[in-house]
Amino acid sequence: MVQLQTPKFVYMGGKLRLWEDATLHVGCEALTRGLNVYEGVKGYWQVDGRFGIVALRRHYERLRRSARLLHIPCDWTYEDYESATFALISELVQPDRDMWARTTLFVVEGHWGEGTVADLVITAYHQDKQPPQPVNLSVSTWRRSVDVALPARIKTSTNYQVGRLARIEGRALGCEDMVLLNQWGRVAESTGACILMVRDGVVYTPPPTEGALESITLDLVEALAKSMGIPFVRRPIDRTELLIADEIALCGTLAELPLVKSIEGQRLPESAPLLNALQARYFQAVRGIDPHPAVELAMLPAPDGRMQAQEANGPARSSV
Ligand code: PMP
Repeated sequence: MVQLQTPKFVYMGGKLRLWEDATLHVGCEALTRGLNVYEGVKGYWQVDGRFGIVALRRHYERLRRSARLLHIPCDWTYEDYESATFALISELVQPDRDMWARTTLFVVEGHWGEGTVADLVITAYHQDKQPPQPVNLSVSTWRRSVDVALPARIKTSTNYQVGRLARIEGRALGCEDMVLLNQWGRVAESTGACILMVRDGVVYTPPPTEGALESITLDLVEALAKSMGIPFVRRPIDRTELLIADEIALCGTLAELPLVKSIEGQRLPESAPLLNALQARYFQAVRGIDPHPAVELAMLPAPDGRMQAQEANGPARSSV
């Protein structure tokens, strides 16, 4: 096995430091866009006063799949993952503010894939309760990487290098997010969300084989659309179709479902009846106002350690 040397000194932050003291914070971009797999999970205050995390088990399962592809060991069971997430959120949560948690499996030891050791690090951030504001979108000159290089279907931070560059490009254009095209010049996804497009009463989104993450929110939204009688189709989308779409929205755990108000500087109609209706239904489901079987919520245990009550959609999960 290749052995990484540990020389006595490292130059860092303008001076020489001991090897052991040359550390980076887990929240810094060098690490959050580095070698790890992660999940972003969102928790919402429910109408009944409980706090529910959306699709936590599905996020855990995707984390395991991402880790498997990158040969990163994941020794945490779902129960460990849930307990750790609950413990941090319980400590930080504030009344009337939702939370987004980043659950990251960092590679902390190993070299070129030998002797890999991982650690689960969870950071959680407060989120305002307002629905997302409409965004301006343009098509980036940067492209989604190909499946044989940095596979977009899994959630690994190294994929986000290109998203970072696209956002820098978008900022100069007044765009909050940017569309990444794939190697065939078709729509893949945005820098941090999937893309929904409506044409003639049908919602379309590109499948992961077009270079999109295997999105959990997309599956939930598809189930909601089907219950509402809205046709929902996954198929490749040309760039020019997006430019003449009737309605566009982004779709993701953190992004939620913001409508797109302009694409490449051209305004879209404000009404957006289908995507507005889907957005409203999504919030009713994640806030427990009108639960949907596809939108499972893992309820935070009450402070005394008991579950707050039965889950909105299914049996209570283990408590901390
Ligand atoms: N694509 C990218 C690049 C993302 O970062 C996200 C957010 N996780 C999504 C799509 C949407 O995925 P999900 O619905 O699972 O959050």
